[in-house]
Amino acid sequence: MKVGETITDYFARVMSVANKMRVYGEAMTDVTICEKILRSLTDKFNYIVCSIEESKDMDALTIDELQSSLIVHEQKFHRSSCVEQALKVTIDGRVGGRGRGRNNYRGRGRGRGGQEFNKAMVECFKCHNLGHFQYECPQWNKEANYTEVSEEDEMLLMSYVESHEVKRNDAWFLDSGCSNHMCGNRGMFINLDESFLHSVRLGNNSRMNVVGKGNVRLLLNGVNHVVHEVYYVPDLKNNLLSIGQLQERGLAILIKGGVCKVYHPTKGLIIQTVMSVNRMFILLAQTPAPTNAQSEKCLHTSSQDLSYLWHRRYGHLSYKGLRTLQYKKMWNWGVNFEAQILLDLEWGENEENNEGEERVSENGDEDGNGDRRERSESEGSEEARGREVGNPNESGENEGRVRRPPPYLNDYVSGEESSAQNLRCLVPSVPKPLLIFTPLLECHVQAAVICSKQFGVQLRVRSGGHDYEGISYMSEVQTPFIVVDMAKLRSINVDINRNSAWVQAGATVGEAYYRIAEKSKIHGFPAGLCSSLGIGGHITGGAYGSMMRKYGLGADNVMDARIVDVNGRILNRRSMGEDLFWAIRGGGGASFGIILSWKIKLVRVPETVTVFTVPKTLEQGATKILYKWQQVADKLDENLFIRVVINVVNSTVNGQRTVQTSYNALFLGRVDKLLQVMSKSFPELGLKREDCSEMSWIQSVLYIAGYPTNTAPEVLLQGKSLFKNYFKAKSDFVKKPIPETGLVGLWQRLLAEDSPLMIWNPYGGMMGRISESAIPFPHRKGTIYKIQYLTTWQVADQEIEAKHMDWIRRLYEYMASYVSSNPREAYVNYRDLDLGTNKKGNTSFIEASAWGNKYFKNNFNRLVRVKTKVDPDNFFWHEQSIPVLPSKKGRGRGW
Ligand SMILES: Cc1cc2nc3c(=O)[nH]c(=O)nc-3n(C[C@H](O)[C@H](O)[C@H](O)COP(=O)(O)OP(=O)(O)OC[C@H]3O[C@@H](n4cnc5c(N)ncnc54)[C@H](O)[C@@H]3O)c2cc1C
Repeated sequence: MKVGETITDYFARVMSVANKMRVYGEAMTDVTICEKILRSLTDKFNYIVCSIEESKDMDALTIDELQSSLIVHEQKFHRSSCVEQALKVTIDGRVGGRGRGRNNYRGRGRGRGGQEFNKAMVECFKCHNLGHFQYECPQWNKEANYTEVSEEDEMLLMSYVESHEVKRNDAWFLDSGCSNHMCGNRGMFINLDESFLHSVRLGNNSRMNVVGKGNVRLLLNGVNHVVHEVYYVPDLKNNLLSIGQLQERGLAILIKGGVCKVYHPTKGLIIQTVMSVNRMFILLAQTPAPTNAQSEKCLHTSSQDLSYLWHRRYGHLSYKGLRTLQYKKMWNWGVNFEAQILLDLEWGENEENNEGEERVSENGDEDGNGDRRERSESEGSEEARGREVGNPNESGENEGRVRRPPPYLNDYVSGEESSAQNLRCLVPSVPKPLLIFTPLLECHVQAAVICSKQFGVQLRVRSGGHDYEGISYMSEVQTPFIVVDMAKLRSINVDINRNSAWVQAGATVGEAYYRIAEKSKIHGFPAGLCSSLGIGGHITGGAYGSMMRKYGLGADNVMDARIVDVNGRILNRRSMGEDLFWAIRGGGGASFGIILSWKIKLVRVPETVTVFTVPKTLEQGATKILYKWQQVADKLDENLFIRVVINVVNSTVNGQRTVQTSYNALFLGRVDKLLQVMSKSFPELGLKREDCSEMSWIQSVLYIAGYPTNTAPEVLLQGKSLFKNYFKAKSDFVKKPIPETGLVGLWQRLLAEDSPLMIWNPYGGMMGRISESAIPFPHRKGTIYKIQYLTTWQVADQEIEAKHMDWIRRLYEYMASYVSSNPREAYVNYRDLDLGTNKKGNTSFIEASAWGNKYFKNNFNRLVRVKTKVDPDNFFWHEQSIPVLPSKKGRGRGW
């Protein structure tokens, strides 16, 4: 450690080296790191090192604990400008360097240069006698009538905060810095064990005496909460609720957006409070006088039996569901769900199970009618209750009860409310997930992988729900299955100075664009045109957009990623290795792990860009103009992206249906320059100044996505889709222009369909300069443009669906001779199950090549190798996941 370096900086430096060593296979345990740190601190920490080594079990000491402990001492140095304190230790003879040698004391290798430690020479800092440390000083006991208790000192980082806002007996601070609930007012206890004597140490190393322990009843919005094991600390001016102790009792604490919510595992939200001006979370509770009539309940949950544990662990799946899984031999829990099925522990417990909350009526009488509505500290409106509360009175009896999801784990989302885009994949005949799990934290995603693997249940992962075949939210082949919905992991952290941003998987590209533009007018990101795409799934397939000709795909501009692998580990680029990092950027979604977040590289955009849309119908010479576009589309100035949207409209000339080709463009520059480029390269379109609009890049995002003019960019934060349909789509890549005769045949087919749509996206520019194998997305040099074919319909009807599916399949056949061949390339983000699907178990390399080569060309081989390495048991399976190569050990059994 350098002189003057802070503990935080030093730990960061050590951890960075230690992590590197871990990556290279060195076994760097916490103990080793702690030992190294203790050996290498500067001299002013000597006495702390001694006391830590003396007082702690080094084998159990975590790095975090060590850091916290050292920081507390460091703060002490800073606070007092007085001379540094040090325990006097006598060095017996040998004075060595900071070698690795073991010292004799306690027999471990964390000695400092072979110094002998003699406790007899230690001077207590409290009584100044020799032979013991300050914390062992018998003086403490005398002063505090302290009786020896086996526990270690309680730590209290926060003691009294002089607040003008709150200085009242009924204020309870929610505090993560204290190790136990504490109360300074004797009158608040409904019972008190005064034989309990203890002491708590404050952050400044002073102490307060604990002279009893008992229960306190808090009345919050008409509901009694009995808080157990509260220390009575007479000197304490404010009351503290220990967040750590609450969570030990099964409660979940969520602090977000200036609101702290406490959730009971079965009753949902029980306490809610908003942040005070000085950034504290305070509960204002009435403390009713204790009455013997009221039986005590506590902020506590207990797990009655194994089946209940499984029920909770499995996302509060109903007992019926658990029983089904057991019948299907998906997993043997070794418990009998028959007995449990009658006991709906989720919301409709009988009184015996209602620990943690007592309902009292307005006048304070308990009504005991089983109404489990939670009350919130800050409000209590009916609306809020209705939103988050399960009311058992609405349910029927036993099995027939309506199960309400526990709001703290997720907001379970029903199919209708979900982000799922393709309504074709939501019709009743399509199997539905057992549950949709919405992680709030990265570790929830880890838990989802570990649990699904352990229970042998198929897992689907959804970010934005735009998968063309609904792979992210339905499974035709493998049931039962669950969906991990990343929608709540959507934070975005833009670092303009480093031209980068970390974007969590559940964020939409529109949100990412907005957050970038919010910080800079000259930065952007080259991904999809549709703003509601989930960045999680979108980038896994490539992610093209209107800046692709200038900067390539979204996946070409990824710098790092965090994923949860098949073993539930969180890996980043360094720890996952370059092979896996290569595979996830374009190798298709949900084959290798769950993306938690992408680190994207921001690109430069001009402050002013220009957009236009010029429609041309058949009557306006659409065929010839389109033929010309095919010749120039990939050769135009790479600042210019002109896509062609082709659909069928009523002709203004004769009222008949006609084909319309709309040239929809973004130019990364001003209109004057654009007009020059167009008159030189594509005069056939006849672009005029009045067709063009200059605007900021973020406004162009809205324009291209199809929002009406003057829509505020904030709409992007809503993540709403403008396209939710019953649809089927396909894709092709074109290497040479389709002749006019071919186009005419195409028009005939479009005119025969109700709502056909084609989008032709130009390639060239940067797309042609990036090598085919740089990432798994292979459609590069030689591609003029990509075609997307779409047909949509409005009702869930099998016959109607069959008719449209048939139309698009015949159109695809017709186009075969005009597009790429050997393989006939396709875009994996426009997933098309007609190209082939995995069998229920593993699929052979040859079979999977049917679609694998179309999506990835030669990169498919490498993808299969990576998949075999990182997920040999094929856990991340779906209809078009990358297959694994069979191994001699019989791996690759699939699901
Ligand atoms: C209206 C519309 C417009 C589109 N526009 C464009 C466009 O402009 N450019 C373009 O390139 N594509 C476009 N697409 C295609 C789009 O890129 C893909 O459908 C993409 O997969 C969508 O990602 P998502 O997260 O929204 O979808 P999801 O359905 O959530 O996921 C798609 C796939 O990725 C997997 N996946 C999702 N999240 C994760 C994760 N966190 N980790 C691992 N795997 C995951 C899913 O399991 C699924 O296989 C469009 C699609 C639609 C419906």
